[in-house]
Amino acid sequence: MRRLRFRRLWTRLNFSVKFAAIIAVAGILMAIIPLTLANNENRNQAAQRATDKAGIVVNLIGGQQRSLASFASGMSQELAAPLTARDTATLRSTLRRYSQVNTPSDIVGASGPLADIAVSAGTPRPASDAVVRALVGSLGSAPLVVAGPDGTPWLIASAGVTGTTENVFIARPIDAAFLRALDGTITTSADPAGIAVVRANRVVSAGSSVVDQQVTLGGNLDSGVVAVLGPDAGAQVVAVGGREAGADAQPLGAGYSILVTTPVSAVTTFWQPTAILLGLIVVAMFFIVLVVQTDLQRPLRRLDRAVAALARDEYDVPVPHIANDEIGRLAASFEAMRRQLRATINGARARAAIASELNSPQPLETALSEVCAQLRASAGADASFILVQGSEMADGFAVTEGTSVEGDVATLLGAEGPIGAAYRHLGPDAVLVGAGAGSAEAQSGLLEFCTAPLRMGRNVLGVLGIARTAGGFTNSDASLVASSAEQVALSLERYRFIAMMQRQASTDDLTGLYNHRFLIDYLGQQVALAERLNTPLAILVIDLDHFKRVNDTYGHPVGDAVLSGFAQTLVGSIRRADLAARYGGEEFIVVMSNTAAVDARRVAEKIRGAAEAMLVPIDGGRNNVSVSVSVGGAAYPEDTTTATELLATADAALYDAKHRGRNRVCMAGDRHAMEGPSNVTVIRPRRSAQ
Ligand code: GH3
Ligand code: MG
Ligand code: MG
Repeated sequence: MRRLRFRRLWTRLNFSVKFAAIIAVAGILMAIIPLTLANNENRNQAAQRATDKAGIVVNLIGGQQRSLASFASGMSQELAAPLTARDTATLRSTLRRYSQVNTPSDIVGASGPLADIAVSAGTPRPASDAVVRALVGSLGSAPLVVAGPDGTPWLIASAGVTGTTENVFIARPIDAAFLRALDGTITTSADPAGIAVVRANRVVSAGSSVVDQQVTLGGNLDSGVVAVLGPDAGAQVVAVGGREAGADAQPLGAGYSILVTTPVSAVTTFWQPTAILLGLIVVAMFFIVLVVQTDLQRPLRRLDRAVAALARDEYDVPVPHIANDEIGRLAASFEAMRRQLRATINGARARAAIASELNSPQPLETALSEVCAQLRASAGADASFILVQGSEMADGFAVTEGTSVEGDVATLLGAEGPIGAAYRHLGPDAVLVGAGAGSAEAQSGLLEFCTAPLRMGRNVLGVLGIARTAGGFTNSDASLVASSAEQVALSLERYRFIAMMQRQASTDDLTGLYNHRFLIDYLGQQVALAERLNTPLAILVIDLDHFKRVNDTYGHPVGDAVLSGFAQTLVGSIRRADLAARYGGEEFIVVMSNTAAVDARRVAEKIRGAAEAMLVPIDGGRNNVSVSVSVGGAAYPEDTTTATELLATADAALYDAKHRGRNRVCMAGDRHAMEGPSNVTVIRPRRSAQ
């Protein structure tokens, strides 16, 4: 539960705060661990020093004992003569002299049947003196240490005097002064130590200090200190009054132990480097937080804003450039992703727009120029173009945006340039290619091309592409071009199919020429156009002469063959821009835009001559049928100004031609001339051909 709450709190914390917290914890650990290790080391050292110093103290006391023993031995030799002579006066004076050369607290004396004398610092001590009694009382067992009546331990050395039953002795108290002297030997200011003599867990004698003067004379020892007094206890670190010290004890004899303490040092000196370290950590933390803020959080926030814009479908806001570190690289990846997404989405929008343009009811060229505009805008290209190859029904053409196509479409499609490359390209994808310096495409200054063939099954209907003066195209541009080419090809095919259907509805099955209905519409449009453009227009009405006879003589199928043959002859006799139609039965009409009556007559004569020269084979080619035609012509605006009247006038002229003997041409103008100037506008429709 608590862990969960901590986790929730932790996840909610600011990045800098988390970082600071982790660094603080790490810093504290970094400070505490060496501190603890050093403290342990110091404790071990303190215990070791206590052992070393206790050994030194024991050696020093041993040395004192040995010097006391040799002094006692010297005394016994010197006093042998006076004692043998029972000269107590000499004994006393000698002992006084001895006491004066020794430490004032030393007691020198003799004990035996002759005398019981003790002297210290040149002064005899009474035999009743408790210390003297204790010392003398111990002589029989020849101890090294004797307990004084006040508990003070005494070092004692004695010797028997040769030739007598007397003993001489010298004793020295292990008192504060003694211990201070030892203290002076084992202590320096950098390496302090305390010495005490203890017995029965009490301090009986102490030097300068024991564990920083926390142990008072006669007081009970702390249980921690007692622990080092055991026979095999060894040195330990003990706590006395809140302070720690290394402590060790060595037995002195007579129940006494010498206790040496050395304070666990240098812990305090460790706080300074620790404080410095902590200070450094705080400074480092500040800089780290600063770095986190400037190098991590701020860029992350900027990145976050940019990515949030992507999430809102705003693909035009660029992800900012952020340094070159990991976040910078992340930002760069996001920017690449944004561009990719934008390209994909723009591509999808462009595809949808292109599909909509191609499917809306509008002329093919309008739809294609809308497609070009879309392509150019979506790819950000300098130009776009669609080249459609010519077919038997229509000439090739080009629709462009931002450029123009110089030269013939078929030539461009067959050339070596980027357009030709796409035209010959077999794959389903687009072609990314540069325009060679010699190519027609390069003339316009466009050098980079992304093109695709307009492919419909095995047929290539043309080429679609985009172009730039510089800078290449991306994969998404290529993909857009390829899919647009596919859509345009489909549409072209559909337009062609519709055109074919329309054409079928407007042509005559037998001759393949336009039919009556189409002709009427077309003539109406052409007259209106001629009126608007103020250009002339002429029509010819052609009728086969005595055609009934052909039918009657050779049969209806031969008649059909003659009609069909004449239709071909007719088409071969007129310009591509002129329109030939079967008006009905064996009657044909030619509409010639931008043509005056005088030129129309020439065409009519040409048709008449061609018909006359025409031989339609019959009987499997063994015989031929030939025919002649009569032609009536009328012109706009010379003869009349409406489509209906033009037809009627030409028909009337045809009537004249028939009437004058057939196989001839009559223009409406001839009738005007015939009927005289006053009657030029009279139009008399033909009633009968005979
Ligand atoms: P004219 O010189 O005065 O024009 O004499 P004509 O015989 O050509 O004129 P007419 O109007 O008397 O006859 C036209 C004939 O054309 C009648 C018809 O049988 C024939 N005809 C009309 N349409 C077709 C067709 O589609 N096929 C065939 N074989 N004959 C047709
Ligand atoms: Mg006829
Ligand atoms: Mg006829």
